[in-house]
Amino acid sequence: IDMQRFTIPRDLYFGDNAIEYLATVKGTKAFIVYGSNRLKSDGVIGKMQDYLKQAGIESTTFSGVEHDPSVTTVREGVRQMNEFQPDLIIAIGGGSPIDAAKAMWIFYEHPDFTFEEAAKPFNLPEMRNKAHFIAISTTSGTATEVTSFSVITDNETGIKYPIADYNITPDVAILDATLVEKMPQKLVANTGMDALTHALEAYVSTVANPFTDALAMRSIEMIVKNLVKSYNGDMEARKQMHLAQNLAGMSFSNAILGIAHSMAHKSGAILDVPHGLANAIYLPNTVLFNSKNAVAGSRYTEIAQRIGLNGNNEQELVTALVDQIKKMRSELGMAGSLKEFGIDEEVFMSKVDNMAVTAVADPCTSTNPREITSEEMKALYIAAYNGEDIAF
Ligand code: FE
Repeated sequence: IDMQRFTIPRDLYFGDNAIEYLATVKGTKAFIVYGSNRLKSDGVIGKMQDYLKQAGIESTTFSGVEHDPSVTTVREGVRQMNEFQPDLIIAIGGGSPIDAAKAMWIFYEHPDFTFEEAAKPFNLPEMRNKAHFIAISTTSGTATEVTSFSVITDNETGIKYPIADYNITPDVAILDATLVEKMPQKLVANTGMDALTHALEAYVSTVANPFTDALAMRSIEMIVKNLVKSYNGDMEARKQMHLAQNLAGMSFSNAILGIAHSMAHKSGAILDVPHGLANAIYLPNTVLFNSKNAVAGSRYTEIAQRIGLNGNNEQELVTALVDQIKKMRSELGMAGSLKEFGIDEEVFMSKVDNMAVTAVADPCTSTNPREITSEEMKALYIAAYNGEDIAF
């Protein structure tokens, strides 16, 4: 079928203290999921519970969701949800607590469903028979507060379950600017470049459409204008970045991604390279690689023109776009290669064949504008290791 779908949350609440929305929300029992204890010590969780109380809602908390949330954590969350019987699930944090809460939600709604079934793309049953879902992000990059994705890891087998289904797109996303004021500089850089990669990959995706294009293009403009300023402590720019990453999220939740993410997923798991940094290292060469596809080449040209870069033809504009990404990367104090990041060459060479083969098989490769072989993928990894431009 040719029909396409575009799904985003019904409501976004944004601005300073947007979290106050919780004082007006409808419901009776709220189950709050978070990771870091900092949210508790900073008083954010207490404030949320106060607002919910004003709305006449009883609440309980589930804390300690780890980075790369596990099947075990999800099962424990489901057990506690079954006891408490919430009609509202509220997840707050960076990517992990929101991803974990999405998965808990699935098995709270459908106790007999399995992780294996959930990991099949777009295979989830209808949700919202028991609870609605509110997501509040405290970082500016993953955009899981608006996406249809969640990744859960089985710590015993090492298997990662990537869940993708519009049924787990949150009902409400809250973008409270005050929650990102204290983000550490390195996190601003990594998450910001992740967001830029989301927008750029969504814009050239094979399933991009006018809805995802509008969001991605505006996001790119805002990120180019604000990310480095935000990194350097400009709080107005920090607020703009919190919105920009969200636009990118609504775009890629529907347009999916491309090979920079395929590469980042594998090097994240195998070499432990932080996700946003990996994307920042891979992005320039993936743009060069994809620009040999005629459609992608003209789309990159549109982007370069929109952000005011100079060039007399497509090739010059694509080069200007690549240079712009590299310039931002270095202004953000990020490594420009895997070598510079500190990955040992022997370790890298012993893993690269495996990473290349599995990156080609990653779901994000299927929406990349240019087809890629595992030999080409390997060449992209090696160029990223050495910090060189590819020549094909
Ligand atoms: Fe990402």
